Amino acid sequence: MKEESITCTQAVQHYLQAIENNQHLNSFLEVFAEEALQRASYLDALPSSQRGKLHGVVIGIKDIICYKDHEASASSKILAGFTSLYSATSVQRLVDEGAIIIGRQNCDEFGMGSTNENSAYGAVINPIDNSVVPGGSSGGSAVAVKAGLCMASLGTDTGGSVRLPADFCGTIGFKPTYGRVSRYGLIAYASSFDQVGVLANTVKDVAAILEAIAGPDDFDSTCSNKAIEDYSAEIDIDQKYRIAYFPEWIEHSSVDPEISIQIKNLIDKLKRDGLEVEPVSFDLTEYIVPTYYILTTAEASSNLGRFDGVRYGFQKSNGSDLKDFYKHNRSEGFGKEVKRRIMLGSFVLSAGYYDAYFTKAQQVRRLLQEQTELIFRDFDIILAPNSPTTAYKIGEKTKDPLAMYMGDIFTVFANLTGIPAISLPVFKHSSNLPFGVQAMAKRFNELSLARFSQRLMPQ
Ligand code: GLN
Repeated sequence: MKEESITCTQAVQHYLQAIENNQHLNSFLEVFAEEALQRASYLDALPSSQRGKLHGVVIGIKDIICYKDHEASASSKILAGFTSLYSATSVQRLVDEGAIIIGRQNCDEFGMGSTNENSAYGAVINPIDNSVVPGGSSGGSAVAVKAGLCMASLGTDTGGSVRLPADFCGTIGFKPTYGRVSRYGLIAYASSFDQVGVLANTVKDVAAILEAIAGPDDFDSTCSNKAIEDYSAEIDIDQKYRIAYFPEWIEHSSVDPEISIQIKNLIDKLKRDGLEVEPVSFDLTEYIVPTYYILTTAEASSNLGRFDGVRYGFQKSNGSDLKDFYKHNRSEGFGKEVKRRIMLGSFVLSAGYYDAYFTKAQQVRRLLQEQTELIFRDFDIILAPNSPTTAYKIGEKTKDPLAMYMGDIFTVFANLTGIPAISLPVFKHSSNLPFGVQAMAKRFNELSLARFSQRLMPQ
């Protein structure tokens, strides 16, 4: 990642030019050009003894992660004009290690979506094929990495929003264990699911960034105090892996036959290489998507209550009374998908339905977590598809939200159970579109996940 032979200024100039040449992708909502150049020249003048571990690394951030004195919109009209008073811990830690933040990246509004079409600032285009979606919700972040507009991006992953766009664009997308990276400064969607994640071109880049951003934080009590491992230094040390896969997932009726064949071929290859790979039956598959959408919409309806036109950004009218005021601001400030989720969430939390939906879903989440823990007693890695399909046409699923939700089946599992997961771009479909394989590990076993990923994608 460290391009020793060129200066930080040259690196920033290179990326600014690339962003300029690729404006049609709509990947960045704002580019911090002047500021990035100033910071680069400051970094260039630093003696090597004072350089951080990420000296001169040019990073883009999903516009859902706050950066002090910069706008943060969550790609929503309701936050238009809002400037953050503080930096997210993850962003601050990157800056402390010498990284250069080059801009904020387009995403689905409040992270709700799988295609990046739910942005108040327009859809993002997939650089591999301009007629298909880049995946979401961190679409701008994946596109920027794939199209060479920055070295790496920070995204957020509540139900696959880092791994899915990585899969559709052909980059690496990594979601840490829930609690490995501070959520302070991340605009909340569903707080018991949200994690900051990394999009990059190599596993080593992911490891270096994770090392910088992970670890305890006084500002987020759900962030674990567990010590961070030395991911970069230990990544090349190989270990023994016991690998599980769920035949119900690979053979699932929604999975494109080519995706299922390629993953089966990979499993065969790993076996031939002498690794232990075993099928494990997973009978809770059909409960995964409903459980995720009940719990995340419930949390979203509560988290998004704060956007009322009084405290942040958009204010449409003064209204005739307070109720009218809220109604106008929220009706016009939020997009369609966000409103659908707030209504769904309010419904599952309402008296009379609470036990039937919310409580039930919490019980199923617990079951999923227990079953997953049992699997990790015998295995180190679970191998799976990321998505049933490759990237689809822009507009193809916008009229059918349920079909879109079903596409999250393989990614939301890691968020429901809190385990770390990575999407590795190892395949190409006959349509020419890339797709990857997903590897998951036990909670806080990022190191063995990184080692296994490095083995699949050595660089
Ligand atoms: N597609 C999922 C959703 O819409 C993922 C969101 C995310 O991870 N932020 O909820």
